[in-house]
Order: sequence, then C-alpha cells, then structure tokens
Amino acid sequence: MKRILVTGGAGFLGSHLIDRLVEQGHEVVSLDNLQTGSLENIKHLQGKITFIQHDITEVIPDLGGFDEIYNLACPASPVHYQANPVHTFKTNVLGALNLLELARRTNSKIFQASTSEVYGDPLVHPQPEHYWGHVNPIGIRSCYDEGKRGAETLFFDYARMYNVEIKVVRIFNTYGPRMHPRDGRVISNFIVQSLQNKPLTVYGNGEQTRSFCYVDDLIEGIIRVMATPKEIQGPVNLGNPNEFTMLELAEKVLKLTGNETPLKFEPLPQDDPKQRQPVIEEAKKILQWEPKIMLEEGLKNTIAYFEGKV
Ligand code: NAD
Ligand code: UDP
Repeated sequence: MKRILVTGGAGFLGSHLIDRLVEQGHEVVSLDNLQTGSLENIKHLQGKITFIQHDITEVIPDLGGFDEIYNLACPASPVHYQANPVHTFKTNVLGALNLLELARRTNSKIFQASTSEVYGDPLVHPQPEHYWGHVNPIGIRSCYDEGKRGAETLFFDYARMYNVEIKVVRIFNTYGPRMHPRDGRVISNFIVQSLQNKPLTVYGNGEQTRSFCYVDDLIEGIIRVMATPKEIQGPVNLGNPNEFTMLELAEKVLKLTGNETPLKFEPLPQDDPKQRQPVIEEAKKILQWEPKIMLEEGLKNTIAYFEGKV
C-alpha cells in the first residue's frame, strides 16, 4: 500500500484516478480548491480518502510524506481557465513549484498532467512528443498553454537539479461521466444541448478537428506511466488517435441521443487550434497501452451520465 497525494481530486479526471487508486488499496489524500471540481464527484469515497480544500498556489500544508504525487489541479476547459487567467498561470507554475518542492523534500515520485495544448495550434500533424509546438505566448489561451509549458520546464529542471523522479504526460481531449454539465467543453456542451432540445453551438465552420479519449482508457495510461522505471520521465502523449471534425461529433451526438436539434454556428474563439491528433507510438512502446473505447461507446456512457444530471 502506498501513500498518494492527488491534487485536483474533486475534478473530472482526478476523481476517476482516485477511484482506481482506492480500488488498488492505496491511502489517498486529495487537495482541491473546488474551483471547477465538486465534492459530488467524490461523495462515494467519503471515509475512504482524506480530502483537504486547499489552493495549490498557496504553501502546501504539512501532510507528512508521500510515495507518489499526482498533480492534476488546474481548470481544463477554456471557459474556466480564461475566467481568471492570472490565477490559472499561478496554478500551473506556482502550484507545480510547490508540489515539486514537496516531492523533493519527501523524496516522492511526481506526476504532471500536462496537455496537448503545449503544441498550440500545431503546424505538424499529427503531434509527436518531439514537436516543440506553435503557441501564442500573449493570447487568451496562453495562461494555460504557457503555464503548462512552464510547469514541464520546472519538472525537468527539478529532475536534473535535484534528481526528483518525474513523470510528465501530455493528455489529449478526454471526456466521460463527471464532466461538469456547464464545463464549456465541446462534448459536454453538445450532449447537454441535445438532451435539452437546444441547438448545438458549433464554433467556426466546425471543420476543426479533435481526437477524443474516453476517461477509463486515459486513467489506465496514467497508472501505467506512474509504474514505469525512474529513467522514463516522458513527456508521453496519452490520447485516442481517432480524429473527428466538430461537425462529425455533432452528428454522432444527435444520432445517439435521437434528438433532431439544429446546429447554431458561433464565432471561432481566438487561437482555437485547427487540428489535433496524438502520435501514441511512445505510449504503445513503453506502456503497452492504447485506447480501447471507441467514440460511440464512450459517448453512450457519457450521455447516460448526463441524462441523470440535466
Ligand atoms: P477539472 O476542471 O474537472 O478538474 C480540475 C480540478 O482541479 C478541479 O477539481 C478544480 O477545483 C481543481 N483546481 C483547479 N485549480 C486549483 C488550484 N489552484 N488548487 C487546487 N485545486 C485546483 O479538469 P479535468 O478535465 O479533470 O483536468 C484535470 C487535469 O488534467 C488538469 O490539470 C488539466 O489541465 C489536465 N488535462 C485535462 C484534459 C482533458 O481533456 N480533460 C486534457 C489535457 C490536460
Ligand atoms: N467547440 C464548439 N462548440 C462548443 C464548444 C467548443 O464547436 O460548444 C469547439 C472549440 O472551438 C474547439 C473544439 O470544439 O474547436 C474543442 O473545444 P474544447 O473546449 O472541448 O477543447 P479544446 O479547445 O481545449 O481542445
């Protein structure tokens, strides 16, 4: 049994990760400021984990030592991370620094939830880990993109300077139950709109692409990364390489909900990436991992979840 800290544990991905860690018999402590997460997501874990409401940009309280730290704290939806961009940047950079210090002090292995956003609006398609990206440093997405890039820099410098054991994963768009109904991301928006018989809001002409990974596949990948030997630091892409346009996604959601609501075209947000698809050869090689759940099946589970929420 390990003692494990998960930041962002009341969020979408964090709560699923904790489910897996508790299932495996580990002792879990979670820090979350509840900015976008909800205690509802971890209600079933009451009495099984220790939850502390805390903002990781502030000094981390004395919690004792850990074997492993998973840093997932950060709003992931553009709507939420742009609401207070200065705080988002602090979460990514100061938060990472605080947790790396904790890892260094307590000699703990540390995982960073990085993102495909480090590739920005990519000029290389699909995106392998060795691509350095195409990121606007001063745009409305920069607090997140550059914040996550800064966090990656800190992780690798802590590994080089202090020999901290790091695992950096670049997560591509992931979806599933426990996404917030008003999260603002495309899958939750389309499903909620369709279930409420409202028009589906397509930004731009809907020809931009994303590659969507179901949450269970992603969590399996994260657990496998953490179990790799010390010399494997990443960054490793984790995502589902099946790529769809937003128009194709809208069509699938409408087919699966059986509702015939129209599409409503709205302006494309600034710096919205035109295309995104992971190269996952590295994950296949070092983790023997690849996603198993295809979009239709994952959407069915997610629709069933939202049916109980809206
Ligand atoms: P989420 O918004 O559901 O969860 C984030 C959690 O972090 C929330 O519970 C929130 O309250 C908490 N949080 C935010 N700022 C905090 C702070 N300063 N201190 C303490 N807690 C804080 O998002 P998610 O989809 O679960 O994403 C989790 C992590 O994975 C994030 O770091 C995100 O950047 C990364 N990621 C997610 C995706 C995705 O598609 N879901 C893709 C790439 C990267
Ligand atoms: N999008 C959309 N309608 C929505 C929400 C998002 O067409 O209601 C588009 C958005 O412009 C982007 C894509 O869907 O091109 C994915 O957006 P999301 O916010 O889910 O993730 P990210 O842009 O961070 O990949």
